Amino acid sequence: MFKSIQWKIITIFLLLTLLVMIVVGTFLLQNISAYYHDDFATTLSAQAFTPLLRSELEAAARSDDPVGEITEIMNIYSIRMMIDSYRNYYVLSRDAARVLSSSDPEPIDVSITPNLISAMDGNVGSQIDRSASYMDYAYPITDRDGVRYIVYIVDSKDELYDIIRNIFINILWALVFGLLISAFLGLILSRTIIMPISNLQIRAEQLSEGEFGHRIEVKSRDEIGRLTMAFNDMASRIDRSLSDISAEKNKVEAILSQMTDGIVAFDQTGEMIHSNSAAKELSGIEDGITFTQFASALKVDLTLEQLNYLDRNRVVERQSEIGSRIIRVLFAPYADEAEKNGGTVVVMQDITEQTKLDMARREFVANVSHELRTPITTIKSYAETILDMAAEDTPETNFIRVIEQEADRMTRIVTDLLTLSKLDNSAKAAIDKKVFNLSDLVGSVVEKLKINANNLGLTISFKKEGDTSSFFGDKDRMEQVITNIVSNAVKYTPSGGSVEVVCSAKYTEAVVRVTDNGIGIPEKDLPRIFERFYRVDKARSRESGGTGLGLAIAKELVEMHGGRIDIRSREGKGTSVIISLPMVNV
Ligand code: ADP
Repeated sequence: MFKSIQWKIITIFLLLTLLVMIVVGTFLLQNISAYYHDDFATTLSAQAFTPLLRSELEAAARSDDPVGEITEIMNIYSIRMMIDSYRNYYVLSRDAARVLSSSDPEPIDVSITPNLISAMDGNVGSQIDRSASYMDYAYPITDRDGVRYIVYIVDSKDELYDIIRNIFINILWALVFGLLISAFLGLILSRTIIMPISNLQIRAEQLSEGEFGHRIEVKSRDEIGRLTMAFNDMASRIDRSLSDISAEKNKVEAILSQMTDGIVAFDQTGEMIHSNSAAKELSGIEDGITFTQFASALKVDLTLEQLNYLDRNRVVERQSEIGSRIIRVLFAPYADEAEKNGGTVVVMQDITEQTKLDMARREFVANVSHELRTPITTIKSYAETILDMAAEDTPETNFIRVIEQEADRMTRIVTDLLTLSKLDNSAKAAIDKKVFNLSDLVGSVVEKLKINANNLGLTISFKKEGDTSSFFGDKDRMEQVITNIVSNAVKYTPSGGSVEVVCSAKYTEAVVRVTDNGIGIPEKDLPRIFERFYRVDKARSRESGGTGLGLAIAKELVEMHGGRIDIRSREGKGTSVIISLPMVNV
């Protein structure tokens, strides 16, 4: 209680009053004491012992009854000398040894003081010793023979002490009243300051408990009034922001709960932050599990550390079989406000139907391709036989040659299709990964294609940057990818052009970039370029022996290695294909 501002203000007021009264009291008492002392000697010298009194006293000393006459004169002058019960006069013998007469009914024994000594020497003794318990004044009555009598006036100072006591008592009363008044004023003042502050304090407590409704009345325009207004303003802003945030939250929650895709979010420590009902329904997980428990429930070989290690824009995709369902699981690491690892969002999609359809389609393609192999081989061998039998070139032999070329093309298509269906069916397990030097492999592919490129009037160059010697992947499949991409660059670059191949290492990624200054790809075709059988210029592709499956196979193989393939191109200017592959196994 005594720590409150109210008590502090009251205490300051009381101390201030006490201090003022002490200073004023001391000053007053000192001045009164000084005046009383100074006034004693000056009044006696100037107003009482005037030249008239002096000559009267001297005349009396010479008379027949000197003591009687002096006493009479002193009685006449006693009012002027303020002789009363506190102040008496004494008529002393010249050596001050005897009291000859006095105003005091019970005269004291006069002791020798410095003033009396002066008087005995013939001088007026008017020294005041403020520390002494009395004040005295000694006047010598002289004639030709020297000092005859001494008039000695003694003041006991009791009057001064009475005055001081009275003033002191008055000051004490004034102090008591002053303290009461200042305590009262302090209380009123502190209340006017403290009431609004304690109102603010109560409101702040209400705010912290989530009550935003009340407003504090603004009673003044002073600093506290302005503080109250600012506080009210702040409360309504917080209220508005919280309603906005909660509306947004409700919206997001409604969207998440209505989604058919499962969404689970984990923080950077692997604790679950959110999961929607679709996620629980798809994977059978419970709320509150950790990332590790989640990964093992979905039989996914991923750890949070591996995901944190990844570049933020990368999404890692896995498939998981839960019961009879096939689920595509996408892991996307996200950054927090400080651009640090915030955690991971996992999206789960039920792809059971789609996978079944895909499998049926692929099976069909594989079967058809397989079935087509024998008739195509038969057509080709018959065409070759007819050509071998023909002695000279006739229009018919030319037709047969076309048949043979088309049979070759169909063989290539069927081979590519079988490669794709093999990739589709055997998926990852079929990849035979080991550590090898990627740049050496890229260099050997470039070397193999160099003769063909030079024959076509192209220059082809190879450059390596950084160390890719610890690349981990399937060497044969990588060779197929690089061959497809580099041979495309050669195929679609006219004579006189150039192809540049660069193999580099960037952090944990190996990047192979194949750039040509050939015919390029129109912008509208770029999004579909990796689709199976998609070709920009069918005639040109056919002419150069293309099947429209090269890029599709390359993409499939790169993705099986956990990498990505991008193509950038400008029609008429050239094309750049960028293959990014993780060096470690993700
Ligand atoms: P293709 O067997 O027809 O080359 P791909 O799948 O390898 O089939 O390529 C698909 C299509 O992409 C090609 O038909 C071609 O039109 C285009 N293409 C691929 N690479 C290049 C390139 N380097 N320059 C221009 N066009 C390209």
